[in-house]
Amino acid sequence: MEKTPVPLRCFRDCHHFEMFSDDGIETETSREQKKVERTVQGVFSVYQQIHSSPQPALLREQHYQYLKKGLRHLSDAYECLDASRPWLCYWILHSLELLEEPVPASVASDVCQFLSRCQSPTGGFGGGPGQHAHLAPTYAAVNALCILGTEEAYNVIDREKLLDFLYSVKQPDGSFVMHVGGEVDVRSAYCAASVASLTNIITPTLFEGTHNWILRCQNWEGGLGGVPGLEAHGGYTFCGTAAMVILGKEHMLDLKALLRWVTSRQMRFEGGFQGRCNKLVDGCYSFWQAGLLPLLHRALFKEGDSTLSLSRWMFEQQALQEYILLCCQNPAGGLLDKPNKSRDFYHTCYCLSGLSIAQYFGNRNLHHELLLGREENKLAPTHPVYNICPEKVAQAIQHFHQLPVPVQRGDDAAAAACAMDDS
Ligand SMILES: [Zn+2]
Repeated sequence: MEKTPVPLRCFRDCHHFEMFSDDGIETETSREQKKVERTVQGVFSVYQQIHSSPQPALLREQHYQYLKKGLRHLSDAYECLDASRPWLCYWILHSLELLEEPVPASVASDVCQFLSRCQSPTGGFGGGPGQHAHLAPTYAAVNALCILGTEEAYNVIDREKLLDFLYSVKQPDGSFVMHVGGEVDVRSAYCAASVASLTNIITPTLFEGTHNWILRCQNWEGGLGGVPGLEAHGGYTFCGTAAMVILGKEHMLDLKALLRWVTSRQMRFEGGFQGRCNKLVDGCYSFWQAGLLPLLHRALFKEGDSTLSLSRWMFEQQALQEYILLCCQNPAGGLLDKPNKSRDFYHTCYCLSGLSIAQYFGNRNLHHELLLGREENKLAPTHPVYNICPEKVAQAIQHFHQLPVPVQRGDDAAAAACAMDDS
């Protein structure tokens, strides 16, 4: 049975009232905001003129071709390497799993071999073969390997050494540096918590103090900054909140303040999200910001919040789908920040991830009224903590939980130190 198409938000006459008002005070920021709204309005009106029955389409085939080319280039040209190769693997593999496009076994095996060459002899993964281990590519590599989900992929990860690496970047105040001698920010806590929980290497001391350090990153705005005292930012807020969920401490955040901050980041006219207050809409925040809503929903639900809607997340899911489908697709494949920007694998991954969040509520039992456009627009669901498909998370956890948590030298030393304190 053909469902009745959802009327598009941008076709509503009153929609233009949602445009930005500078209250008579023009600034650089207000000029930029108006410029983006005019561009988006242009995209909407072109769409209205050529489509009498609006059913915005996800350009599946084009995106698939763009991603496939990226992956082949990767498997053919190991020589041409840069510092974010594990990220490219993850962005492409996750985009493909959202599109439900399988990866051929030979390509999967090539990616495993490539990532094993990015693994540092001292544990963790670098941005390419021979590079120093860093928490960001470590997160990307572990996620990519869990998406592949083969025995070969799981076996790439040296869990003992990974634990050594995590201890080597752990700081006495509970935070983590991104790499030995590197900077501290809340991304590192998330990357560490994500890989440690997926691969079952969490020891009693590894995350000691981490939740208290993350709590200090939540500021008066309600969101989280990169370190205590900085401006709230979508990427850092996602990382800090997801890390708190992994550590089972999300109830310690000011959840209502966080909810107010994140819902205020959805743009009234464009429908997409901005990363910070007074910044422009950007497709990648479709995941970093909208991905927070399932995490917050669960946290508030656990607290017995009776004001929660039980049929949708607490943001305009249709408006976000409209922004992504109308403003963020390159007609030749790949997704982007906003109209007139170029496509890349990063934005492809996070626009699709955000689109998936906006299409679903709860689990795979899709509520049809949430899907914008045709059935073929439907993506696979994504796990809002790890941003890989939920069954791949379950499969990895099941695999690694059959293996014992490695004994860490740091733990022995800490235990010995405690024993000496007691005496
Ligand atoms: Zn972006």
